[in-house]
Amino acid sequence: MAMKTHKFRLYPSKNVEIKMLNTLELCRQAYNELLGLLNEQKVIDKAQIQGTIPDMKICDKRYKQLYSKTMQYECFRLFSSLSALAKTKKRNRKVGRLRFKGRGRFKTFTYNQSGFKIIKTGKRHQTLLLSKIGEIPIKCHREIKGKIKQIILKIEASGKWFAFVVEQIDKEIKPMQTIKNVVGLDVGLDNFVYDSEGNAVKNPRHLNKYKEQLAKLQRQLSKKKKKSINRNKQRIKVARMHEKIANSRNDFLHKLSHYYVSNYDAIGMEDMLMTFKSDIFAKSKSDASWGKFRQFIAYKAESAGKLFVPVPYKGTTQRCSQCGETVHKELWDREHNCPCGFIAPRDYNSALEIKRLMLKKLEIGQELPKSTSAENRALPPLAATFVFDAGNPTL
Ligand SMILES: [Zn+2]
Repeated sequence: MAMKTHKFRLYPSKNVEIKMLNTLELCRQAYNELLGLLNEQKVIDKAQIQGTIPDMKICDKRYKQLYSKTMQYECFRLFSSLSALAKTKKRNRKVGRLRFKGRGRFKTFTYNQSGFKIIKTGKRHQTLLLSKIGEIPIKCHREIKGKIKQIILKIEASGKWFAFVVEQIDKEIKPMQTIKNVVGLDVGLDNFVYDSEGNAVKNPRHLNKYKEQLAKLQRQLSKKKKKSINRNKQRIKVARMHEKIANSRNDFLHKLSHYYVSNYDAIGMEDMLMTFKSDIFAKSKSDASWGKFRQFIAYKAESAGKLFVPVPYKGTTQRCSQCGETVHKELWDREHNCPCGFIAPRDYNSALEIKRLMLKKLEIGQELPKSTSAENRALPPLAATFVFDAGNPTL
């Protein structure tokens, strides 16, 4: 059963926002209380901790303001963090123990399975109905057809609220039987993508403009007096700009990946993240865009029943896509000029080579590579926001 997460902006009224902030604060306190109990246990007993939740409500009446499953979810969150910690330990990393969450370190609360409803209004904003909180206008820019399993409410550094709506997709996804249109994609610095049809897609220009604006805002921030009101105002401006950049980049990646998945049956890309490909990439401190683009292509292909085909990255730049000859190029050589007579922009040759490798992989009857379904599989509730949340993935 596949799950899909949508991120929608919320527009709570002042009164409702007070309730949401109150919920967040109570969830934080509940989490800390449960962690306190956990720390006292010599042998970890989840059932016992879970069993104290009704008592907590009797001792502290404020907890009655929480939707019961939202409070129970904090117990689930605690034990998810605990098992994540155990996994990190296994990988021999130095880890501490779970920490109490201070004010401001808690950004989300969750409605799992029940206690919520999205009501269609036919207007620009739909209505999200949350038990114990009330009605919140929500901007659903995508229609949700499947069953909603869970809604995570999150406040971002800029003060904006978002809902992460986890949708269950029922239909079984089968790879297409006939593959007619195939495309190879080369990602790079000059162009974001060069495809085997000869199209070059540039990085969106407004992104660079935003980045310049961000640098300016950050310079201004560094000049503001510590702990001053103006500094705080500036900090919010910086956070908003970060958000704007992340959003417009995501938007670009979504549109571009959508374009390739809807127009082609199979899409080939290199199997290695660009960062490892050359020093230049490492130096450019590449934002995560290329990896994200691949991820978007992979999961969109899977849910559309199309194929994402990773091919070995080695040699795709140097090899001639027409004759197979190695044509050595330096990083600054932008042209592929082969003795066989094939002359093309370097990235175009790479895209053609990627396509050739992909066709080879598909034709020789190897088992068809399945696109990685990791992104699409039922996500553990805590990881759900990882997929689309472009900002800081801390929960
Ligand atoms: Zn050649």
